[in-house]
Amino acid sequence: MYVCVAQVTLHDCLACSGCITSAETVLLQQQSGDEFLSRLADPHTTVVVTVSPQSRTALAAYYGLCPSQALARLVGWLKWLGVRAVWDLTTARDLVLLEEAAEFMNRWVCMYVSAGPLPVMGSSCPGTGWVCYAEKTHGTRVLPYLSTTRSPQGAMGGLVKSLVAAAWGVTPGSLYHVTIMPCYDKKLEASRDELTTTATTTTAAGTDAAGAGAAVGGPLPEVMVRHATAAPDPLLPGVVPADDQLYSLPHGSSSGGYADFVFRTAARELWGVEVPPGPLPWRTRRNADLQPRVGAPGQSLVVARVYGFRNIQTLLQQLKRGRCPYHYVEVMACPSGCLNGGGQIKPGPGVTPQQLIEQLELLYDVAARSPADNPAVAALYGSWLGGRPGAPPARQLLHTTFREREKTVTAATVTNW
Ligand code: SF4
Repeated sequence: MYVCVAQVTLHDCLACSGCITSAETVLLQQQSGDEFLSRLADPHTTVVVTVSPQSRTALAAYYGLCPSQALARLVGWLKWLGVRAVWDLTTARDLVLLEEAAEFMNRWVCMYVSAGPLPVMGSSCPGTGWVCYAEKTHGTRVLPYLSTTRSPQGAMGGLVKSLVAAAWGVTPGSLYHVTIMPCYDKKLEASRDELTTTATTTTAAGTDAAGAGAAVGGPLPEVMVRHATAAPDPLLPGVVPADDQLYSLPHGSSSGGYADFVFRTAARELWGVEVPPGPLPWRTRRNADLQPRVGAPGQSLVVARVYGFRNIQTLLQQLKRGRCPYHYVEVMACPSGCLNGGGQIKPGPGVTPQQLIEQLELLYDVAARSPADNPAVAALYGSWLGGRPGAPPARQLLHTTFREREKTVTAATVTNW
């Protein structure tokens, strides 16, 4: 194997203001493994955990298991440690996709009535890297275009600290909600004021600590030997039914399939066009993957996927010059999406990063199902979320806001560095 030292120069700096500041370092320390163990030992705290599909897929690949086996072993270990409930993030992801499609269609219809802001830029990393960049570097020139739909982690935090806390008869603050995610940026998202839940006089974070999947990879061999497996919990036992197996999306991307789902839903709902099942014919361009248009003459829908910071910068320049040709954009900070997140387990000996990505994509492609067919989603909309995507209760729990933030690193700072 050829090993060399990577050279990183100022030319690689995006001046994105995403560097970790001292204040953010304190926040990260509050989400450490030691803090997790101390909360488990606290008799006044109930610890609950949510596992992302990308993290369980990475664990499965590394240890030669199928994703459901990897999740069952992880759940068994967490329960042995004293965690009260362990959930899979899929239901939150499904809710987010339905909200995302509803938000896009609402803005599309408004475009011809009141010039609503298009394109909609949707992502499973709202609150993480690229949104931090947009808030600090581009502010109000870009923020109105961001989808207000929360990320799956943000949505799950709202559900746990409101619905689960109420069902268990505890305060949101007494629940310590930990997520196992594909990137470290999720820790910063967890600390956002915009993702808190207020009950009576107290306000609590939706997610108290976000851990990278790589951090739990080490103990897993011991877990496999010593502890019984267990199934993930239903969100609300007896009320919101459990999934009987893990599901992915029909042909969606590993980052959630936002563009795919919005394109199919909008084509069906707005123009009565049923997009055939099977992978969409994405065309790879220099800075984006493009989807062939659908719609009526003069009103055809253009959907794109833009991954990686260099391509995101190009997109934002197009937007600010009024030359963005898309109506909906799935924006992801990582070049290959969430399966390639910085918190994923690194490739094992003799495995290249590209081989690992291909292996993860194969494993991620478990049985597919539309988000609307998730029985837990139907139960949640029926009893708590106002009956339909975009209803006021759904907007309260599943949407967020963004705001311009002070820059900690300026272009001048970088130039003078
Ligand atoms: S694209 Fe990367 S930064 Fe964004 S949520 Fe996924 S893993 Fe995290």
